[in-house]
Amino acid sequence: MDFKKLSVFLKDNGLPAFRLKQVHEAIFKNFAASWDEISALPAPLRDKLEGEFRLNTLDTADTLVSKKGDAIKFCFEMKDGLKIETVLLNLTSERWSLCVSTQAGCPVRCPFCATGRKGLKRNLSPDEIVDQFLAAASYLKKNRNQKIASVIFMGMGEPFYNYESVSEAIRTMTDPERIGLGQRHISVSTAGHVPGIRRFAKDFPQCNLAISLHASEDDLRNDLVPLNRQYPLSQLAKALNDYIAMTKRRVLVEFVLMDGLNNSRSQAAKLSSWLRAVAAPKYFTVNLIPYNRTGGPYRAPARDRVKVFAGLMETYGFEVTVRKSLGDDIAGACGQLAGK
Ligand code: SAH
Ligand code: SF4
Repeated sequence: MDFKKLSVFLKDNGLPAFRLKQVHEAIFKNFAASWDEISALPAPLRDKLEGEFRLNTLDTADTLVSKKGDAIKFCFEMKDGLKIETVLLNLTSERWSLCVSTQAGCPVRCPFCATGRKGLKRNLSPDEIVDQFLAAASYLKKNRNQKIASVIFMGMGEPFYNYESVSEAIRTMTDPERIGLGQRHISVSTAGHVPGIRRFAKDFPQCNLAISLHASEDDLRNDLVPLNRQYPLSQLAKALNDYIAMTKRRVLVEFVLMDGLNNSRSQAAKLSSWLRAVAAPKYFTVNLIPYNRTGGPYRAPARDRVKVFAGLMETYGFEVTVRKSLGDDIAGACGQLAGK
């Protein structure tokens, strides 16, 4: 919603300034998705505004609910016809987390990820990121009478390649006058964009950082996360070490386990030594993500292999979580977002 334009419009039409506040409140606090829903405004004014302003930059092309009802995927169409995906995840009962996209496609091109396969189409604007939240919040309010508790920037795209939009979206989400989430309820996941990590530490020291590691040797990581060629593991280690020194925050280390590629015992040992060289184990949570099928040559590890890897990391002193795969029946799981 373009509030500047709306303010000018109200003035030009001799309408009182408090109307702006009413619209603001309806959008950010009540998640109104259409002018009709803003009953505080007189009907003729609503009709007038309807022809001039869109409340949301996104059209909902499709909404898919997983069989268990714990994942809801939205497929949004933007003004230029490009599509992006956003997923609501019910991690613990009644606590919903929203996974937002920051780019249409992704320039990093990790070969195991459906988003990366097509490369970058374009960056999203701050409104296009925030509007994913507003549309999903509106859906959740109407259909389940529930709220979004946290936002994870883990959908399509590399957030730090679109730093300006991402930071503006975080400001809107954390501003008490607008969405008003606590910074601690926002997490950003990066494939290892070193300058982005450094800026993020300064700008949002209370938000959470997640880093997609997947390998702790440059040779393998160059293949799995091509951004590693630009920012190799040594540089990433320094940036994470500085991040932790500055924020004193725990970092989530995402590690997609692919059978026969990065899930051996020796790779667990290497991961442990790489992390320990960055900071003490208490500063990390290792989040193991069994590979979700995306049509590539990779294989998911058997459940007991995941257990062995998790057990080893625990023995090395790390807190370990294994990511539940929610929404794989609606292609809403990690790495499966393609946007068509
Ligand atoms: N671009 C950012 C954020 C989006 S990707 C990043 O890479 O961190 C979100 C997470 O999903 C990343 O950890 C990514 O590595 C993981 N992922 C990608 N493809 C996957 C797949 N096929 N199976 C499981 N996880 C995958
Ligand atoms: Fe981009 Fe993340 Fe997918 Fe890699 S895993 S291609 S960085 S979205």
